Amino acid sequence: MFDAIVIGGGPAGATAAIYLQRFKRNTLLIMKDQGALGKTAHVDNYYGFVDTITGPDLLSRGINQARRLGTEVVQDEVLSIDYFDDFTVKTIHGEYKAKTVILATGKTQVYLKAKGFNDFIGKGISYCAICDGFIYRNKKIGLVGSKEFMEEELEILKQFSDDITIFTNGAKLEVDVDKEVVLEEIKEVHGQESIQQIVAGDKTYDIDVLFMAIGSPSASDFALRMGAFLDNNYIVVDEEFMTNIPGLFAAGDCIGGLLQIVKAASDGAHVAIAVHKYLKQNH
Ligand SMILES: Cc1cc2nc3c(=O)[nH]c(=O)nc-3n(C[C@H](O)[C@H](O)[C@H](O)COP(=O)(O)OP(=O)(O)OC[C@H]3O[C@@H](n4cnc5c(N)ncnc54)[C@H](O)[C@@H]3O)c2cc1C
Repeated sequence: MFDAIVIGGGPAGATAAIYLQRFKRNTLLIMKDQGALGKTAHVDNYYGFVDTITGPDLLSRGINQARRLGTEVVQDEVLSIDYFDDFTVKTIHGEYKAKTVILATGKTQVYLKAKGFNDFIGKGISYCAICDGFIYRNKKIGLVGSKEFMEEELEILKQFSDDITIFTNGAKLEVDVDKEVVLEEIKEVHGQESIQQIVAGDKTYDIDVLFMAIGSPSASDFALRMGAFLDNNYIVVDEEFMTNIPGLFAAGDCIGGLLQIVKAASDGAHVAIAVHKYLKQNH
């Protein structure tokens, strides 16, 4: 059992792990890839670097520093988090338990470029099978995705309907599914009050709901499933960086504010101090 599992290895997650280890809290950091820093060619505005540093270089320094201080770092993708007294974090390759969890998965919002898509978010376009699946029992369900995250959502949706079509939106299907699969890109979304049809390739499909499960689940996906509050797709935290779920914390771009490295690192320090205090009081 870890004191804390940090999900995300960017400046927020790595800084949180560095601070937690220095409080002698045994910490696991799980990261799937390089996050926003992986896309950052030059960082010129971060304190202390006289010469420009690349995002990936800064990232690997942070991770190595967390490792040196004793953080266990696992490269894997988190698929779900369950909460019952303690937290169980399920990844593609394993399962881990902790007393607290810090979400530091950055900012990821998955939208489709399809015409009309934005008009139906919340009107038949859903980001959470466990939240909305029941509403659409025995209805025609479309599910967008191509990987393990989609597979996870599919298992939930199967409890509510047999009529499920998977849309990979042009991506290669990477998991085995026992439902009809449409590989073409989604071009248009139609409906009136709510979604009614989508056009993929040159075919039109009738649907009552479209569930989104592209790529990997983000902090807001985890928050939605666990009942943590969101505001405009950002996780709502209190002044101690805790969500409305005791022991579930969040930091960095996923809570909004200034979307910059310096603020993410500052959040990481704050959240670690708050987690340390929470553990002292509650465990
Ligand atoms: C192109 C670009 C250029 C930028 N340039 C600058 C700049 O010059 N200066 C500056 O200050 N800021 C810059 N930024 C912003 C800065 O990169 C972010 O504000 C900062 O990286 C946010 O840190 P974070 O730790 O919150 O999230 P991120 O750095 O995005 O890290 C998120 C972490 O979460 C992990 N993760 C996500 N989902 C999962 C999952 N399901 N399972 C496991 N792990 C998961 C990712 O692998 C990653 O490790 C730039 C951003 C971009 C996109």
